[in-house]
Amino acid sequence: MSLRPHLTLGFNIPLKSSFVIPTSSSSLTLTTLFSTTSDPPSSSKTEDAYAKLKMEDLVGLCKRRGFVFQNSELYNGNSGFYDFGPLGSELKSNIKSQFRSQFIHARSDVVSLDSSIISNPKVWESSGHVGGFSDPMSDCKESKKRFRSDQLFWGPVKDEKGDIVCWVCVHEDDTEIMKKEAKKMAKKIIKNEKINVEGRTTIDISTFKDLTFATESDIQNIPSPESLKPTLTMPKDFNLMFSTSVGASSTTPAYLRPETAQGIFVNFKNVMGSSRMKIPFGIAQIGKAFRNEITPRNFVFRSREFEQCEVEYFIPPGDCWKEYHKEWLDFSKNFLLSLGVRDDLMDWDVHSGDGLAHYARACTDVTFRFPFGESELMGIAARGDYDLKAHEEGSGKSLEYYDEETKERYIPHVIEPSLGVDRVFLAIMCSAYAEDEVSGEKRTFLKFKPSVAPVKASILPLLKNKPELVEVAQKLYDELKMRWNVDFDTSGAIGRRYRRADEIGTPFCITVDFDTIEKEGKTVTVRFRDSCEQIRMPIDEVMGFLGKEIDGY
Ligand code: ATP
Repeated sequence: MSLRPHLTLGFNIPLKSSFVIPTSSSSLTLTTLFSTTSDPPSSSKTEDAYAKLKMEDLVGLCKRRGFVFQNSELYNGNSGFYDFGPLGSELKSNIKSQFRSQFIHARSDVVSLDSSIISNPKVWESSGHVGGFSDPMSDCKESKKRFRSDQLFWGPVKDEKGDIVCWVCVHEDDTEIMKKEAKKMAKKIIKNEKINVEGRTTIDISTFKDLTFATESDIQNIPSPESLKPTLTMPKDFNLMFSTSVGASSTTPAYLRPETAQGIFVNFKNVMGSSRMKIPFGIAQIGKAFRNEITPRNFVFRSREFEQCEVEYFIPPGDCWKEYHKEWLDFSKNFLLSLGVRDDLMDWDVHSGDGLAHYARACTDVTFRFPFGESELMGIAARGDYDLKAHEEGSGKSLEYYDEETKERYIPHVIEPSLGVDRVFLAIMCSAYAEDEVSGEKRTFLKFKPSVAPVKASILPLLKNKPELVEVAQKLYDELKMRWNVDFDTSGAIGRRYRRADEIGTPFCITVDFDTIEKEGKTVTVRFRDSCEQIRMPIDEVMGFLGKEIDGY
């Protein structure tokens, strides 16, 4: 359910002007050290490759390297659903296990929960989801396309005297892209309708509003982005919950949960009673959520089935929420940084006024600059006592907390950090994307932090036809795979194997060569993905070295 305030844009677009989409001026420099063995020396300077990365390239990369596939591709797809491949499922699982270790295990005040996806439908009535978990929807009567009304922006095209020439309506997007689209649409409409403007027409998109602000008479003028004619219907609410039926004889619909949070609220008493938690304390849950999004788009950013990591942190009533909210903002941001989400691409979006849900005291989103624009990555909300009160009223059972120290009874208030695993996945892919030059050749690689990298190390015998090397490498691989997802690669020249590992973001390559078996000290080479630096290390120390690099101990 979108809590975002409406967009306001302020630009004058002369129809004949050209637009330049600004790219980030920041640049990254990789320090490349010379290798001690057979890795080609690399000298590299990296511009910020991400600034040039297009969404379709990222989608292609995810498919090619086995991170994400379109669901049911064999049957021409299934809009809004994705399958995570061998590397994607590892990366996702690493994000979730980092959440578990940082938000739950490392804190003595948070415990975990794994509640069911389908609940008694009364849960969703009390929480307000049956009545209000909806987005506004408009249909195009001609093309039969369906739109989220708050994602369509419309406004007039005027001439120099301020008279209206025609109207345009474009999809919400990056400001520059919206300007381009508005200009394109105006040109087409002017041509189709044979309107004489003599090239002086301007589009002032600062006056654009989203379609939910359209009146019955406005809708007669607003063109559909598909038909270019006023064929849109007035916005109406569309409930985003997927319904299903439970059992053979059920008459009332049940719902697939649209968020994990409600499972936490309805178990508040159970968890508190069974785990002797005292306020302040939190319950965290990691799990699937389902929303029948009207227009799933931007790859896994907005899908119909996704995963959430949520914490409901219960606190006393009163002003203390401000302090807790601030604490969770910092904690959440540090978590994202620890996963390798780039700081320079993140920002805060503080909700206020219209953008704040009526029951919320505060809500701040962490946003990320994706290739399609800046959007919400996670939200940290102060929700007051709205949820527990709603379930107390709905169930008729007390959800009060008795504070033994102050002898007070109250309904706890709550701070809710909530993140989408799929969006964090996308932000990590974007943050890790890098290009440089190694030995005169362009290299594309993924700079994953070792803790989230899908494959932690690649074990390489220098030559595949030397059983004495293969045997030692195989033994090392067998030991390491008991603890991490590691790879064993024997095929091709060593340089090509390094490059394969770089492409999928494997942080370390460990090569067993003749020094390993012939010389005292039994050393292997350890090659670092980002710098291409290589060092030698006794084979017995590899496990300890990787432990420190990957797990921090
Ligand atoms: P939006 O405004 O983008 O629809 P929201 O404010 O409705 O998001 P919440 O209900 O606060 O999102 O959900 C918490 C988190 O769950 C979001 O910050 C996001 O990371 C994730 N999320 C929500 N909807 C989706 C979706 N359709 N696909 C993927 N992740 C999602």
